[in-house]
Amino acid sequence: MTDMKTEVDRRKTFAIISHPDAGKTTLTEKMLLLGGAIRTAGSVKAKKSAKFATSDWMELEKQRGISVTSSVMQFEYQGYKINILDTPGHQDFSEDTYRTLMAVDSVVMILDVAKGVEEQTKKLFKVCRDRGIPIFTFINKMDRFGKEPFELFEEIEEVLGIESTPINYPIGMGPTFTGVYDRFEKQIEYYDNGEKVGTQAIEDYDELQEHLEKVTDQETIDQLMEDLMLVDEAGNEFDYEAVENGKQTPVFFGSAVSSFGVPTFLEHFLEMAPLPSTRESTKGTVKPTDEEFSGFVFKIQANMDPAHRDRIAFLRICSGKYEKGMTTWLDRTGKQMKLALPQQFFADSRENVEEAYAGDIIGLYDPGVYQIGDTVCGSKNIFSFGDLPQFPPEHFAKVRPKNAMKHKQYIKGIQQIAQEGAIQVYRTPHMEETILGAVGQLQFDVFIYRMKAEYGVDLVMDTLSYQIARWIAEGDVPEKLRRTSTNMMVYDYVDRPVMLFKNDFNLEYFQNQNEDIVLSERPPRTE
Ligand code: GDP
Repeated sequence: MTDMKTEVDRRKTFAIISHPDAGKTTLTEKMLLLGGAIRTAGSVKAKKSAKFATSDWMELEKQRGISVTSSVMQFEYQGYKINILDTPGHQDFSEDTYRTLMAVDSVVMILDVAKGVEEQTKKLFKVCRDRGIPIFTFINKMDRFGKEPFELFEEIEEVLGIESTPINYPIGMGPTFTGVYDRFEKQIEYYDNGEKVGTQAIEDYDELQEHLEKVTDQETIDQLMEDLMLVDEAGNEFDYEAVENGKQTPVFFGSAVSSFGVPTFLEHFLEMAPLPSTRESTKGTVKPTDEEFSGFVFKIQANMDPAHRDRIAFLRICSGKYEKGMTTWLDRTGKQMKLALPQQFFADSRENVEEAYAGDIIGLYDPGVYQIGDTVCGSKNIFSFGDLPQFPPEHFAKVRPKNAMKHKQYIKGIQQIAQEGAIQVYRTPHMEETILGAVGQLQFDVFIYRMKAEYGVDLVMDTLSYQIARWIAEGDVPEKLRRTSTNMMVYDYVDRPVMLFKNDFNLEYFQNQNEDIVLSERPPRTE
């Protein structure tokens, strides 16, 4: 038991969220370097575009300069076992990202000092806030000129609706950036041309001023002193409980590209960030230290390694200990399953897992047995963590293969990609035409690209004017209402009926006319 507690207590599982270009890759890489998980800078970028366990559809990412996959990285630092779940930065991939956020215990939000809170950050942030996930803020690119710290605090409070509390405070910015003053450790960390040139412990603000007079101009010092007084007097005091409940975010400043502020940030973060959390289930609260093994599938990804055409289901462990060769049960089917060679992901490799604990993410080979939201239990005493949130598609398009000879590969590709949950796939009742549903338009591009790259199928695609999809949870839709000028009934990939509507008005009208039909935003889970 103590063994389990020690293991759980040293685990920190988090995601980094940011608007594209704020510096997520750079910060991740610097953290991995600190942990000794990679040896050279540039590995994460290289991984992003080339050899890491992602398939060649990353080409699309390169072409568009966006990040479309999430990955999991584990490393150790100062005795902690850290699991970083990468989230795609582009808004169109939000569905995948949202699910990833269900598997973490905290989130690091990166803001570009010049841009502040950007559109994408807002969306992701809302999900964190709704779930009460603790958020830590890293304000990046302090070596550039940007917004004043107070302006940023105000933006965080106003736009995101959460209190902020600076753990360290920048001394100047852009050309005058001299370093940060760590309010917790009471020390100056000097920044100099991209290298941290040392720290200086100080007793009080007089001493702080004295030290700074040697390295920076009076104007920068006066501004800092004024700000610090204001933060001390009128700012929010650090409140662990508020942080834990996602109501306050500790704020750090730095410059990821030069690694400045990254070690301090990581150390404070590891101390403050919550441990693997308890989770509610159908049998009550599940504690990370419970003996019985459990976890849930939050992501499925096919063709991670193009050479093997494999598919991986990502499992977040919630309790107990994973041991090699153990037998498990799946909540949805009630079936017993041996976990075949689960893997863990490191910065530049993946390895078979010997043992893993709550907070860890393991990759399960998936011959097609897992669905997103599945609970995996360590005993016959099966329980369930419940469904993961689904985000109903808002864009629809009809597709077919350009070359009818490719029908077999086409069906295979569609089925596999649908099972990943990256895109919704429906078919029309009689003609068996394929309709795709996506949360964002870009998912269609990725789909077209992957069908070509992974299955060798060129597609023809026509956009449809539907905007809403609702599963028919109860009731039967009369034949004449199955296809009208405003709605169409289709089937999803496991044959559940779904109604597509052109707009809210059509949906409401349909519902008013057919009160016995129960429409649902999310699919009922099936065996
Ligand atoms: P991502 O899209 O959020 O993953 O952002 P990247 O980490 O790829 O960074 C985007 C760009 O910002 C790259 O050109 C980085 O070199 C640059 N960058 C990252 N951190 C800093 C920083 O602290 N200062 C400056 N000046 N540039 C940075």
